[in-house]
Amino acid sequence: MKTQVGIVGAGPAGLVLSHLLAQAGISNAVLEMHTRPYIEERVRAGVLEQGTVDLLNELGLGERMMRQGLMHYGIELRFEGRGHRIDFADLTGGKGVMIYAQHEVIKDLVSARLAMEGEIVFEAREVCVDRIESEKPVIRFVKNGVAQELECNFIAGCDGFHGICRDSIPKGVLKIHDRDYPFGWLGILAEAPPASHELIYVNHERGFGLMSMRSPKVSRLYLQCKPDEELSEWPDERIWEELQKRFSTRDGFSLTEGPVIQKGVTGMRSFVVEPMQFGRMFLAGDSAHIVPPTGAKGLNLAVADVRVLAAGLKEFYSSGKRELLERYSEICLRRVWKVQRFSWWMTSLLHRFSNDNEFDRRRQLAELDYVTSSRAAATTLAENYVGLPLE
Ligand SMILES: Cc1cc2nc3c(=O)[nH]c(=O)nc-3n(C[C@H](O)[C@H](O)[C@H](O)COP(=O)(O)OP(=O)(O)OC[C@H]3O[C@@H](n4cnc5c(N)ncnc54)[C@H](O)[C@@H]3O)c2cc1C
Repeated sequence: MKTQVGIVGAGPAGLVLSHLLAQAGISNAVLEMHTRPYIEERVRAGVLEQGTVDLLNELGLGERMMRQGLMHYGIELRFEGRGHRIDFADLTGGKGVMIYAQHEVIKDLVSARLAMEGEIVFEAREVCVDRIESEKPVIRFVKNGVAQELECNFIAGCDGFHGICRDSIPKGVLKIHDRDYPFGWLGILAEAPPASHELIYVNHERGFGLMSMRSPKVSRLYLQCKPDEELSEWPDERIWEELQKRFSTRDGFSLTEGPVIQKGVTGMRSFVVEPMQFGRMFLAGDSAHIVPPTGAKGLNLAVADVRVLAAGLKEFYSSGKRELLERYSEICLRRVWKVQRFSWWMTSLLHRFSNDNEFDRRRQLAELDYVTSSRAAATTLAENYVGLPLE
């Protein structure tokens, strides 16, 4: 097999890149280790920045998202039993975010790519990359028990945090920046209409809470928990009881309860590798960086990376120039670090840390008071949440 760009991983990064390249007339093939149903049902992120929404529409992939997604123009920050709305539209000149589940985005991207006869190899096993420093890198994999080789000009490592591309870069090249958090999120999907039409972020003395949604009938709710929390200790009744305590207000708010259809624990970390490229391989999305989910940025950052990569590849194939490709890491990392900062800040604003003392608690509440009472501070939150402009 031969193609211009070999893409490892059919997550948001790999699939959006495949569409951007196809639109520019650049041949590409995507190799994915899982089955199509698996990646189309995997429950993950759900908040799309304005720039991500605009890109999906520009690519002609946004029809179902515009019909079924929920456009939001604000969020609520809730602390000390009171809610405070951050009005994105007012603070950012009309911008908002789209609530549309990541696995629905994946379904739209896969079906459109296959309809254009794009190449996506599902269940590609034992994927490995080789000769990444040469002009002719290669991706090897096994499909249906048969060993295969994909020769390409460039490789895009879009294979997520646990993929193989990052680790294929020789030792000593990458600098790793890492931070773990002393908590995780216990998340549920529930067949229960959301109790509010916008997301609610709660800072409560018992810990963080988030009420989000997937549709007008399905809520997505999270609780701060231990990083190694045992799900077996959390029967549905206990989850609802804890959620009701954290979301309670002085005027008697209560969440709508319903059957829990999915639950899981997600760890929290911040992680960045520098640079995001080596030889003819470029890392994009979670393979190069992870953010804690509090700022709802993981998917959006993956999409921002591949926009830069697609522009660089387009420049190379149309003019032979490599300027943009050579600056890929530098351009992406400027955004990555700003998004890391925002995600860390939202996390530290809203969670209880195990070593918090009374001073830390009062300082955190003062910061929440400031963010919800100063237009300048609220604007900082809003412009980061809807997404910083793309370079
Ligand atoms: C449980 C969970 C919940 C999350 N919740 C949120 C959230 O609420 N908000 C938010 O903003 N972000 C969230 N995220 C993060 C967000 O989903 C990711 O940032 C986003 O998926 C990144 O996209 P990606 O394409 O870079 O990587 P991924 O989506 O991880 O895609 C990588 C793809 O590569 C494939 N792959 C891996 N290894 C190989 C291999 N060796 N060979 C071939 N294919 C391979 C994988 O199967 C996968 O399909 C969550 C992540 C997880 C894991």
